[in-house]
This record gives sequence, C-alpha cells and structure tokens, in this order.
Amino acid sequence: MTSQTKHLIDFSDILAFAFKCKQCGVVVSLPIAGNTKDKRLDKCPSCDEPWLVSDSEKLTDTFDQLRNHIRGFTQDMERRQKRSGGFSLSIEISAPASSGKD
Ligand SMILES: [Zn+2]
Repeated sequence: MTSQTKHLIDFSDILAFAFKCKQCGVVVSLPIAGNTKDKRLDKCPSCDEPWLVSDSEKLTDTFDQLRNHIRGFTQDMERRQKRSGGFSLSIEISAPASSGKD
C-alpha cells in the first residue's frame, strides 16, 4: 500500500508576509490586512541591505499588488463559502520540516 499526505492551507490562513534579511537575519512581518506603507522595504531596516530595489521595476509596488490581490481574493472566497454549495479552495504547501524529535 502506498499512502500520501498533502498539506493544505486555506487562503484565510495567510496572515502575513515575512521578510528575512539574508545579511543580518532580521525578520519583518507585514500583516496581509495591513496598509501599504512599505516603501521602507527598499532596504533592510536593520543593516541597510538592499531588498526590493530594482533599476527597472518598482518591486515594492508589485508586492503591494500581490498583497492586495490575495486580500481581495480571500475576502471574495469567504463571501462565496458562506453561501451553500460550490467549492472550497486551498493552497497545497510542502511538508513542514520535521523537528527531529519524533
Ligand atoms: Zn539586514
């Protein structure tokens, strides 16, 4: 017998985006429901490592759009799921890392 485990999350499970600086390790968490005042994401607030800086693109704007789309989509899905029937939509994620204690 072969068994398979899938790990699914609902859109409503998405609480925040976490930016972790590869240079100094600081983590900045931006709630999905937050307002977009993220121009300061151009660089790490701790060590000034460049983050969302690009010569050709406004990556901060792209991030803001992504967050707004996910938030709007999640709200729409929640409205739909309060009605009867239809479907539910989840995101499949890779298996969480094992703690090694089991
Ligand atoms: Zn940093």
